[in-house]
Amino acid sequence: MVGHEPLLARPEAREACGVFGIYAPGEDVSRLTFFGLFALQHRGQESAGIAVSDGHRITAYREMGLVSQVFDEDTLGRLRGDFAIGHTRYSTTGSSTLANAQPMVAEWSGGKVALAHNGNLVNAVALRAELEAEGETFDASSDSEIMLKMVVRAAGRHGSVEQAVAECMPKWEGAYSLTILTEQAVMAVRDPYGVRPLCIGRLNGEATVFASESCALSVIGARLVREVEPGEIVVVDKNGMRAYQAAPSTRAALCVFEYIYMARPDSEIGEHLVHEVRRRLGMQLAEDSPVEADVVIPVPDTGWPAAIGYAERSGIPFGEGLIRNRYIPRTFIQPDQRLRELGVKIKLNPLRVARYGPAGPLAGKRVAVVDDSIVRGTTKRQIIGILRDAGAKEVHVRISAPPYKWPCYYGVDTSNRSELIAARASTIEEIRDAIGADSLGYQSVEGLLKGLGISRRELCLACFTGDYPIPIPKDVKLSKLDLEERAWRGRADAPQTRAADH
Ligand code: SF4
Repeated sequence: MVGHEPLLARPEAREACGVFGIYAPGEDVSRLTFFGLFALQHRGQESAGIAVSDGHRITAYREMGLVSQVFDEDTLGRLRGDFAIGHTRYSTTGSSTLANAQPMVAEWSGGKVALAHNGNLVNAVALRAELEAEGETFDASSDSEIMLKMVVRAAGRHGSVEQAVAECMPKWEGAYSLTILTEQAVMAVRDPYGVRPLCIGRLNGEATVFASESCALSVIGARLVREVEPGEIVVVDKNGMRAYQAAPSTRAALCVFEYIYMARPDSEIGEHLVHEVRRRLGMQLAEDSPVEADVVIPVPDTGWPAAIGYAERSGIPFGEGLIRNRYIPRTFIQPDQRLRELGVKIKLNPLRVARYGPAGPLAGKRVAVVDDSIVRGTTKRQIIGILRDAGAKEVHVRISAPPYKWPCYYGVDTSNRSELIAARASTIEEIRDAIGADSLGYQSVEGLLKGLGISRRELCLACFTGDYPIPIPKDVKLSKLDLEERAWRGRADAPQTRAADH
């Protein structure tokens, strides 16, 4: 039997970070970056920041909180220039503190440089130890600061940030999609596996924009041109745009979770509209894991496209059964004991006619509920409970991804392996029993690839297979707080609590 966890203690979220960059002479680049970051808010809600250059001087502002909380007319008004980068953060290395917020800015002999990073280096601990041995000091506890320090040191030797980045790329092992700002250029850089997405857009035919997802281009009126290729550096300055392969790429390994869960459905990644991919996954699931039911409902919001696909292919009517409260922030006030009993209803409430008991669209129905994954199982168990309370006669769960068994080391905040219900349970039946469903069906890895229509060689599937495309160093302690523990070890002023306990 798989154990249970307290309600709403930790959200079952898997987030990364969002990066943005723009060169748009004569435009209000800080405002454009703000709206770009606003579109990328789903990728991280802990902190946000923008760094701007007017061609001579870099100015930056970063703060804890949502993009809309961090910036106002006053702060944006002080960020003037033609070049900008931005970042919205969810911590995957280092805790949720202002010191770790991005873009990070550092000085070298030729000026300043700012860096925004999405991803995770798997050799961060070793790189930091090397730098410390050479006398380097650190203010933060993230791998992004290590990357910035390495760039600054190499820039001093080469007299160029661009050459410095190219020199550092072979030393960085892991996932990184970066936007980098100097006084007179913006760069986009992607690791040789292309684990995290990064795309290029054009605004008004002239300005160049970089963003983690194409949804951030659309909102400012930019047009998607192409992806930054794995191992590529793209630089834009007053002479135009140039791009080149800075590190060889032997295979791509785009995170499959970008398609399944992470990216916004209106984003296009690798020439696939994410919504369409999720719908196809639902259709594939209906073929491979059919069910006799009266209605198909999604777990909102990410389960929607897969549920639509499942209903379409199965011929079972699609319906809404759960209404989501969209305003639950990342740090959430814990409910007291009485509210705790209401559990997940704070976030998801069933459609029912409360005054008459179980009456409404679910009453007496065999319900197939479709979602993209089961992480710890806690939320799913609660959802099934409230569907039964709302009168559902049977609740069948269908998951558009395979069982999620292995943690991520490439920049998605996932639970530890011991917390993943599919890793702890020995059979699907055991998971079904733990969540209290009448039946449970997962997508197979083969079904996933068929639904995606993308070759296995182009994807990272490690969450499902344990086959990590970028080797994980054996001595990595496998915690995003490793660097922090190293940094504070033995210090009397070490923090007593972790800001983000995942
Ligand atoms: S391990 Fe999972 S979440 Fe991490 S990059 Fe690979 S597929 Fe994505």
